[in-house]
Amino acid sequence: MLDSRDLLQLTGKTAAVFGVANERSIAWAIAKALSGAGANIAFSCESERVLDKVTALAKGLGGTNTVQVCDVANEQHTHEFFKPVEKNFRGLDFLIHSIAFAPRETFGKPFYQTTKEEFFQTLNISAYSLIELTRKALPLMREGGSIVTLTYLAGERAIHNYNVMGTAKAALEQIVRQLSLELGDKGIRINAISQGPTQTLAARGITGFVDMKEFHEKTAPLGGSSAEDAAGVALFLCSGLSRHVTGEVLHNDGGFSILGMQLPKTNKA
Ligand code: NAD
Repeated sequence: MLDSRDLLQLTGKTAAVFGVANERSIAWAIAKALSGAGANIAFSCESERVLDKVTALAKGLGGTNTVQVCDVANEQHTHEFFKPVEKNFRGLDFLIHSIAFAPRETFGKPFYQTTKEEFFQTLNISAYSLIELTRKALPLMREGGSIVTLTYLAGERAIHNYNVMGTAKAALEQIVRQLSLELGDKGIRINAISQGPTQTLAARGITGFVDMKEFHEKTAPLGGSSAEDAAGVALFLCSGLSRHVTGEVLHNDGGFSILGMQLPKTNKA
């Protein structure tokens, strides 16, 4: 018998959440949803610069939460991150990877002008980091665990200005599928949420983002996307309700990705 209330209950579970920069971050909405369902949160933030901000946010949540600096480009940081998680929480159930970075100039120049350095830095932080964090989290993860990452339609389609970040998202989505093969035997799922344009710090760096977001709002069957919508999907993907779902890229974009011709809505219905 499926008891949906039981399956949605995360009391006694622990989530490592990567990618909170401020209260607009998708990772923050996800942390609030997981915490609301009873999970404890081990937050990571990119640098000392945002440590106070993330610590203040974490303090406002219920449950037992910790905050540590972890730059995913720094192997020592990713190694050190999981030691206190093991000590404080004695294991891990969920890993939320909500991280991306590309040098700002890559969004504003032709894709063919991407340098090797820009390419490797973007792929390293935005895609490879999922492999490294999975490897380091795995010894702590309990059966029934779930890993969730965030992607965008530019990993599947050609989208103006998104450039090398689209390449990183394509790699990220394949990493999800490939890891799902190996994690299945351990009873751990891994999935990606393909999120529609959402007003956040990272989004502000994308050339033409405001136009993209407006176009999406006008054309997607369900209109624009919010961080809270993504949080609902993440909660589902961490809960027992999705116990048989892995290796998927789940679109949380109001239906934008299914459109054949993206004309503004006519409201004829
Ligand atoms: P955000 O700026 O709030 O989050 C991005 C996070 O990445 C920040 O917390 C930043 O500190 C972190 N980060 C960057 N480099 C890092 C590093 N070296 N080490 C550790 N952390 C690092 O923006 P967001 O929109 O919440 O982005 C979260 C995820 O959602 C990203 O993967 C992004 O590509 C994805 N996404 C966002 C949108 C959107 O429209 N906002 C749409 C689809 C997918």
